[in-house]
Amino acid sequence: MSDSAMSFETPEQVQLINSQIDEFLKQEVKPLEEEYPQFLGEDGERNMVDDDHHLVDEYLELRERIHEKSVEAGFYTMAMPERVGGGGLSALEDTLVMEHLHNRDPNGYHDMIFDRLSVDHSIIPLYDDEYQREEYFEPVMNAEKHMTFGLTEPEHGSDPTWMDSTAEKDGDEWVINGTKAFISNSVEADFIMVHARTSGEDGDADGISTFLVDKDNPGWEDGKVQRSMGTKQGAQAFNHFNDCRVPEAQMVGDEGEGFRTAMTWVGAGRLHIPAKAVGISQWMFEKCVEYAEDRKTFGEPIGSRQHIQDLLVEMRVTIEQVRWLYRHAAWKMDQGEEYRWLQSAAKLQGANLWCDAADNAIQIHGGAGYMKSLPFEGLYRDGRVTRIYEGSDEIQKRTIARQFLNL
Ligand SMILES: Cc1cc2nc3c(=O)[nH]c(=O)nc-3n(C[C@H](O)[C@H](O)[C@H](O)COP(=O)(O)OP(=O)(O)OC[C@H]3O[C@@H](n4cnc5c(N)ncnc54)[C@H](O)[C@@H]3O)c2cc1C
Repeated sequence: MSDSAMSFETPEQVQLINSQIDEFLKQEVKPLEEEYPQFLGEDGERNMVDDDHHLVDEYLELRERIHEKSVEAGFYTMAMPERVGGGGLSALEDTLVMEHLHNRDPNGYHDMIFDRLSVDHSIIPLYDDEYQREEYFEPVMNAEKHMTFGLTEPEHGSDPTWMDSTAEKDGDEWVINGTKAFISNSVEADFIMVHARTSGEDGDADGISTFLVDKDNPGWEDGKVQRSMGTKQGAQAFNHFNDCRVPEAQMVGDEGEGFRTAMTWVGAGRLHIPAKAVGISQWMFEKCVEYAEDRKTFGEPIGSRQHIQDLLVEMRVTIEQVRWLYRHAAWKMDQGEEYRWLQSAAKLQGANLWCDAADNAIQIHGGAGYMKSLPFEGLYRDGRVTRIYEGSDEIQKRTIARQFLNL
């Protein structure tokens, strides 16, 4: 086999990382699950936020403690390139680790060992600028600072190149005006990477620039926290920029290149979704099999009924399909081959797998599946957003159709 042949085995390096993660979770995260039980179980979501729907201090403190441990253990930045001080995992390795990490009971703090909203390839351009490296990039890599990413606006989500936010030059400063919507973790973030048009017309990908704005900038005002169906994504909020002044040094990369930066961020995230979906759906499937074997109605296990077998078979087959689809897309990405339509296909199918698997799991567990004492209703709510963000189902289909239609 040549180096570039796709292997169906999990690479040894990934097996090693996965076992190190398991050990880390046992030694470092489990004790914190015991110390902070209030954010787990039936009341977990209720305890995470205060009356204004802001994450409470204890929850933020817990998250920081896990981040610090993850930085020390070398997990936190392992998906970033070695050139910028990361662990240098390939796209395939990174996604395999994601699948493994999420193939467990969701009622735990395992997903806090990463902060993929902050530590993401979109911050790489910051490394190449000495000031931005010291002030923003390195603190993010050390989990001392957290960022948020502002692209979507109330009037423009799927079509960000039509954004209304603008930035105009005034002396050696840029003045940003506009409103962003659904911005995850923006209430707690130390800074935002915000996108605004600096030239060009509606629909032009060029002419959108990216700026770093600190939380204490008087021109950046937190708007209303938007309450949502799931909470695992962190709170989303409106963010208003009113004559928000930033020095030239806080423009990321070149003027007018911001949309390309944004697409780098969205691109990497798209493969995390199917990898997570496979991990968590496999876990739900195994719980469903156990339940179908144990639960009896009319004197027989429900798993002996074809209707229930049908639900289980659909889960099992789709998990396998998405597993190989996302791995193929990641492998293509690593080979430097065209991967975009496969990535869109994996994201589309992964998001739907997560939603359908959670729905089947609720159905198989009957009334118990609908209750908060089991994790399926929470997974159903958390999974639903994956069909909307990082490019909705319809936007993925648009990308895939463009692969074969010359219209
Ligand atoms: C929980 C959550 C967290 C988020 N976090 C962030 C964040 O941190 N930062 C950020 O910038 N954004 C974030 N978003 C925003 C997210 O990226 C947008 O919601 C998404 O891009 C869709 O945009 P929209 O909501 O404006 O829907 P719209 O673009 O208005 O779309 C509405 C519907 O029309 C469909 N549609 C749109 N265009 C087409 C088309 N050409 N063909 C066919 N159908 C079409 C869409 O698929 C959708 O079904 C978040 C959203 C959520 C829900």
